[in-house]
Amino acid sequence: MCLHLDPWWGSVCVCVCVCVCVCVKPLRSVAALSLSLSRSMDFLKLCTFETFQQLWSHYGYGGNFRDVIEQEFTRIKGITYLDHAAATLYPESLVRDYCQDMSRNVYGNPHSHSPSSRLTHDTVERVRYRVLQHFNTTPEEYSVIFTSGCTAALKLVAESFPWRPPTESEAGSHFCYLTDSHTSVVGMRGLTCSRGVAAVPVSPQELDNRTEDEAQGEDVICQTPHLFCYPAQSNFSGKKYPLSHVKGIQARRLYPACAHKGRWFVLLDAAALVSCSSLNLQTCPADFIPISFYKMFGFPTGLGALLVRNDAAGILKKTYFGGGTAAAYLSGEDYYVQAANISDRFEDGTVSFLDIIGVNHGFDALYRITGNMHNIQQHTFGLARYTYMLLSSLCHGNGRPVAQMYTEGQFESPVTQGAILNFNLTDSKGQIIGYAQVDRMASLYNIHVRTGCFCNTGACQSFLGITNEQMRRNLQAGHVCGDSLDLVDGQPTGSVRVSFGYMSTFEDCQKFLSFVVECFVEKPVTVDQVRLQKLKTATAASRGSDNHPSPKMTNGGICKVDEETATEASLKGFAHRDSNSHGEAYTLTNIYIYPIKSCGAYEVHDWPVGPLGLLYDRGWMVVNGNGVCLSQKREPRLCLIRPQVHLPSDKLLLRASGMDTISVPLQSKTQLHTSSQVCQSRVCGDRSPHDESQVKKSYSSTDSWIRCRTK
Ligand SMILES: *Cc1c(COP(=O)(O)O)cnc(C)c1O
Repeated sequence: MCLHLDPWWGSVCVCVCVCVCVCVKPLRSVAALSLSLSRSMDFLKLCTFETFQQLWSHYGYGGNFRDVIEQEFTRIKGITYLDHAAATLYPESLVRDYCQDMSRNVYGNPHSHSPSSRLTHDTVERVRYRVLQHFNTTPEEYSVIFTSGCTAALKLVAESFPWRPPTESEAGSHFCYLTDSHTSVVGMRGLTCSRGVAAVPVSPQELDNRTEDEAQGEDVICQTPHLFCYPAQSNFSGKKYPLSHVKGIQARRLYPACAHKGRWFVLLDAAALVSCSSLNLQTCPADFIPISFYKMFGFPTGLGALLVRNDAAGILKKTYFGGGTAAAYLSGEDYYVQAANISDRFEDGTVSFLDIIGVNHGFDALYRITGNMHNIQQHTFGLARYTYMLLSSLCHGNGRPVAQMYTEGQFESPVTQGAILNFNLTDSKGQIIGYAQVDRMASLYNIHVRTGCFCNTGACQSFLGITNEQMRRNLQAGHVCGDSLDLVDGQPTGSVRVSFGYMSTFEDCQKFLSFVVECFVEKPVTVDQVRLQKLKTATAASRGSDNHPSPKMTNGGICKVDEETATEASLKGFAHRDSNSHGEAYTLTNIYIYPIKSCGAYEVHDWPVGPLGLLYDRGWMVVNGNGVCLSQKREPRLCLIRPQVHLPSDKLLLRASGMDTISVPLQSKTQLHTSSQVCQSRVCGDRSPHDESQVKKSYSSTDSWIRCRTK
């Protein structure tokens, strides 16, 4: 995070601890922290590699894992990257080999017939083959259609599936999807609904409970095509849904297929699963499987694929046709004959051939470093399970749990659970701590996690217990997907997700857990030993059994305080969240305004109100050389700048230790009277025009103060 900072910042580096206290008020002094930590022997002992190894024996990939990480991922030194479900990291050898390949070979357009074109064509075909091989299938069974990503692959299916609208004599097609699906799956509804086709959300419970014993078989009379979509792994909770559902739906044994006659096709969204697990298409013959390659290799981005079962490909109807997809067509007449080859037929225009060649290097590096996907699954599951065990057993000084975990099982087995942890932290009174606060603190510690609803509203609603009505109310309260309005009326609008990749290390878990303890646990740290013991045995007990327990919150209750540490006086005043539920009157004594977005607060006891709210509150922002607004997410130390609005002199004064005070005029004469050039920046998703004549060069050649005219 401090990598490309100006020397100006150098002098204030040491003050980061100050900023912690300023930004997140509930924090106590560092001295108190280390004192209570050192006494919490239980937790410290749990947080060692020795303990980890006792809990899980698969770590690394043979050889010296640490050396490999140091060589291949030098750039993440000092960073705790725990957002692999969003994008994993590429190893250095991948990009090095790729660059070498690119600089040594001449790759032409694969649709020409020159030697350079043939080289491209052959390399692309080789990659297709490797993709199929990776998923244990062959070109006889499946075809690879390259797309720009998983989402584009889903859209392709939505656009070309032969949806049949209902008629007077026939019920028509059904588009069914598991509610724990990614937005990009649910969004297929936009297409089906406009064609009059019924969209049927199916909850995981419905799928489990409504089954038929006898396979219904294909109906020879009714050939109405239906589509069922479900994620092989939830991108929210990491839950792995049984791959046996594929055959169950195809044979009309499972709901919703057993309830509707016709021919059932299954789309298995494997985007989240395949980053850390293998997928065997021999045993799980899904009809359509969309994936994105950056989730497997970290590079290339903008490339995905739709794997199509050749038997099912024939039903897909082409509407738009682009270059390379026709066997023949006439320009002057509506005559188009599609290409016989399935990949050719659906790859409109020229595929991103250089990126596809990158996939080759992706496979090379992945197998070279890890051996195979099974090793990756074991390694990442172990890390996730360990983190889950500790986080869900961790308690405040008063014995209340620190985290509310959003998981269905208890990380019993890598067969049912991926390397994803989803949770909200709670304070010692049991109140949820908003995810945005956790995210901001994590950024200060250079810990990279994902927060919000993860493009999976269905799972978010189900785990957090948010009704449709509440979702609408949250929007009215100003909450939109991806923002930092983390609590509405004390109820969470999202959560925190920690996800692992094949290059994640034990140190990542350790750093993350220490961070939670330091920032969010009321001391003394205690551990729910009973729960921990139960989790330890859960894995052993579940081996060989197939049941999936379904309680949602697995650690909702108050846990037992460890006798040894409970005597220590607990520190009070952390994260007070008094609610005025008893109707008592409160007096407002002071207000903090934030004149500059992401900088420190300015405390006032009375303050004028302007036409757009509190005067000068969030009136400015800091932008970089490209006009992009800097935020605390990217530059945590912005909060060291203490702005002060001096009304008598009409000046905004900026102070930070180690620099001279900067004075910016509050009002500019030119701003009101000249038609100055306006540039655009995005602040929290909103376009904000700002006035370049107001640029005030202040502390570096690339960053500038700009008067923001959003308000
Ligand atoms: C990431 C993801 C997607 C969307 O992938 P894009 O690469 O954003 O197109 C869809 N489904 C799941 C389960 C995912 O994890």
